Amino acid sequence: MKEHTRVVVIGGGIVGAAVLYHLTKLGWSDVVLVERKQLTAGSTWHAAGGFHAMNSDPNVARLQAYGISVYKEVEEISGQDVGMHLTGGINIAATPERWEAIRYEHARHKVIGIDSHLLSPEEIKKLCPIIDTSNVIGGLFDGNEGNIDPYGSTHALAKSARKAGAEVYLNTKVEDLVHKSDHTWTVVTDKGNIQCEHVVNCAGLWAREVGQMAGVHVPIIPMEHHYILTGDIDEIKEFDGELPMMIDLDGEMYLRQEQNGVLLGVYEKNSTPWSVDSTPWEYGETDLLEPRLDDIEDALMQGFERFPSLADAGIRRIVNGPFTFTPDGNPLVGPVRRVQNYWSCCGVMAGFSQGSGVALALSQWMIDGEPEGDVFAMDVNRFGAYATRKYTIEKGKEFYENRFKLLCPNDEWPAARPNKVSAVHDRLQQANAVFGPSYGLETPLWFAPQGSEPIETPSFRRSNAHEPVGEECRAVRDGVGIIDVSSIAKYEISGPDAVGYMDYVFASRLPDIGRIRMGPMLLPSGHLKGDLTVMRLADDKFMVTGSGYLQEFHMLWFEQHAAGKSVRIVNRTEDLSTIAIAGPRSRELMSLAASGDVDNKSMPFMSVNHMDVGLAPCLIARLSFTGELGYEMYVPTAYARMLYDNILELGNGLGIKPFGIRALVSLGMEKSFGIWSREYSPDYTPAMCGFDRFVDYGKADFVGREAALADRDAQHEHKLVALEIDSHGADAWGYEPIWHKDEYAGFVTSGTYGHTVGKSLALGYVKTQFLGSSNNEFSVHVVDERRPAVIIPQAAYDPSGSKMRS
Ligand SMILES: Cc1cc2nc3c(=O)[nH]c(=O)nc-3n(C[C@H](O)[C@H](O)[C@H](O)COP(=O)(O)OP(=O)(O)OC[C@H]3O[C@@H](n4cnc5c(N)ncnc54)[C@H](O)[C@@H]3O)c2cc1C
Repeated sequence: MKEHTRVVVIGGGIVGAAVLYHLTKLGWSDVVLVERKQLTAGSTWHAAGGFHAMNSDPNVARLQAYGISVYKEVEEISGQDVGMHLTGGINIAATPERWEAIRYEHARHKVIGIDSHLLSPEEIKKLCPIIDTSNVIGGLFDGNEGNIDPYGSTHALAKSARKAGAEVYLNTKVEDLVHKSDHTWTVVTDKGNIQCEHVVNCAGLWAREVGQMAGVHVPIIPMEHHYILTGDIDEIKEFDGELPMMIDLDGEMYLRQEQNGVLLGVYEKNSTPWSVDSTPWEYGETDLLEPRLDDIEDALMQGFERFPSLADAGIRRIVNGPFTFTPDGNPLVGPVRRVQNYWSCCGVMAGFSQGSGVALALSQWMIDGEPEGDVFAMDVNRFGAYATRKYTIEKGKEFYENRFKLLCPNDEWPAARPNKVSAVHDRLQQANAVFGPSYGLETPLWFAPQGSEPIETPSFRRSNAHEPVGEECRAVRDGVGIIDVSSIAKYEISGPDAVGYMDYVFASRLPDIGRIRMGPMLLPSGHLKGDLTVMRLADDKFMVTGSGYLQEFHMLWFEQHAAGKSVRIVNRTEDLSTIAIAGPRSRELMSLAASGDVDNKSMPFMSVNHMDVGLAPCLIARLSFTGELGYEMYVPTAYARMLYDNILELGNGLGIKPFGIRALVSLGMEKSFGIWSREYSPDYTPAMCGFDRFVDYGKADFVGREAALADRDAQHEHKLVALEIDSHGADAWGYEPIWHKDEYAGFVTSGTYGHTVGKSLALGYVKTQFLGSSNNEFSVHVVDERRPAVIIPQAAYDPSGSKMRS
């Protein structure tokens, strides 16, 4: 065993083996994998081995498609048979709602790059003769699906890595991790110590325990999962071909051929978390759990109804094994904040669809400093302290039980809520708010009419929120509205080196004291890392604000660039609440409440000042995310409720009305304001999305400067545009294709209804070759039909910005 190496990968399941292979593939060969037993000795050995590329997140879908292509690659390199069955797969719809959802998904596959086809029940029956299609409406076929041998694929990855110089130590258990002062590691194993630069937690079922060795909480929960293997089925014996992977979405089950019988897996409603506190070290290799037939009986019966010949074939074997779930079902990948050179690559629920994709992203991150594209959906830093053990269990259970649930864009799942609540939560409840969680915090989405249930009907079309949101928008446009945006992240950055530090981390020019600027942050590749707002409070003190769900993601980035600098970075999101008012009458209201002058001269647009509001000491920022005159009040949380009451009371005579995030999004869309994770993300560069106007290309140095200069002068394939869609009863949501005549011209990033302008609006990236084309030949796929659309050259509402500057 080596005593020194560059990377120790802990765990030899499908994920650890894929990480080892990708580190070597990308050029690091001085790497080792340590496995406490044999390769595949965790969840991997008893998996059904099914894989697919379909995923609602385009970048995850891209990585999954890549991962599938790796199996053949490593089979060739290693000579190890991976047992690949590329059968294709069919998702079945048995309800009209599901059929609509499937057709919507099919349209979006054009954007994601999946070549899928809609099938009739007859076509499904031809491909899968054992199915009863009597209530099936249709299906969605993707050729890039199938199943793989878990043993063969894991060994092929590990062998290929060994051929490139990696080493694999079996029957070697990592017992402790010691972080040294130079940020390297001592990996303590039962066979001796290994010194290394980086450790990667690929410990699957034991990821929590390996996390604890480095003081890292890993929000995963193992869940029990069953599949059955049947005896031979005559129709299969006689079938000329192999059954595709079948997913009956409404029946919440999957099926594939296994020799002349089938494997049927079920996601039962009364799920069972396994080993909730810790995973026993003895478990593994050949262990399985006792089947819980009573719990899966209903689900199996549904399977037998859908595939009637299963009932006669008899159950040859029942497998019940555990595998890990995160609160949202996506993996936990990337560097972990506060623990330098410790990398997470666990919580991979679908290791055979995702193993090589997450391994590629992680290896790029370790070797190049950033993964390609936006991988936030699986970034370990998307969770914060709120993802406690109980939260993880409740959310993991919820995700498992709703694995194939029909998901609408306005769905908010109920488990583990309320978790965090803002200081004005009870006031919002009294106003009949409908809430949605953001980074664990209950946030007002919209306000239901008094006397009605504050519940939104999940729908792809305009829901019962449509009219109330319209009223909220009109209240802001015509008078004044109040919103609790305490979810906004607030970072205080100060100290003797603060100016130099900020100047380097942000690509924009720094504001003068008392002023505010938009602050894009770039990756070294020149792609976007953040879209923050920078307020300068003193010569050496800044308040930076941004999206609340990115707190851990931003803090890690801030801290990574602060090494050796005299700069203090404090996340003040929870100790400061944010209450904002917006609308033409907001100045009138602010002048009644604030201790200082708030007229346009004393407090112009994009300025910031400390003032009292009633009894509360506040930082007031003259900002606008609605396109109207507006003020944001940053107030110590202990004062927030009193401040909110005070503003409401003073605003009574002005017709003040609370509004929520949905109205905020609609008002912002009318101004063509983009948002993070939609229009802005690491997928895009400043010149693609119009952020180049905020970049100070003349600055001597900032992260990503060289790439930014190249980006400024480059020809881009896509540019961000605003669209108006002639749509009725539904609005675009995201990742719908944009067509020019019959040519694919780009994709929507977000869309909603603009209540002031009375139009369905969207933002999206369109191929630049189409930008000069005649404007009346575009269309956008909304739900299940193409609707005519036009590109609008300027914002739908107040394009000159005179209202917010007034
Ligand atoms: C019944 C069932 C069916 C499934 N079907 C599918 C499917 O069809 N498709 C699909 O994609 N996924 C499926 N899965 C899920 C799949 O099994 C997992 O996603 C995958 O195996 C996770 O792999 P992993 O490498 O992350 O973890 P694991 O397989 O758990 O591997 C972790 C490894 O780390 C080792 N280890 C842990 N701690 C230490 C330590 N301290 N020192 C050294 N070594 C250590 C363990 O021994 C183990 O070998 C299924 C799971 C089950 C239970």
